[in-house]
Amino acid sequence: MSGAGASRLVLIVEDNEKNLKLARDVLQFNDFRTVEATSGEEGVTLARQHHPDLVLMDIALPGIDGVEATRQLKADAATASIPIVALTASVMQADRARFGEEGFAGVIAKPIDVLKFPSQVLAYCPVPEADA
Ligand code: MN
Repeated sequence: MSGAGASRLVLIVEDNEKNLKLARDVLQFNDFRTVEATSGEEGVTLARQHHPDLVLMDIALPGIDGVEATRQLKADAATASIPIVALTASVMQADRARFGEEGFAGVIAKPIDVLKFPSQVLAYCPVPEADA
């Protein structure tokens, strides 16, 4: 039986080790593949290298933050089409609107709900052409 993730590649950009490990473990258990970065700069570099199906982007990061990293990825034709989802504890309505303006496809609240997380992530992944 194939898991929910169907081998989709997700780049997780998260500087908190526990949060990163939890997101990675839950995704891998559900048959996603993952690449991980712990800073905004590394996230931008890995997105260019791996061209993931989706980026999960923490906002508060050392160096450039998740908003700036997202701006850089959206400004680059090679990565502009990759959906980027903000992973943040800040989910007030005003913040959600701001994230939309910054180019994020959506927001997933932290702490993540491990039961819902795989389907939340999958919902933001583009449908592969073979399935369309
Ligand atoms: Mn952080």
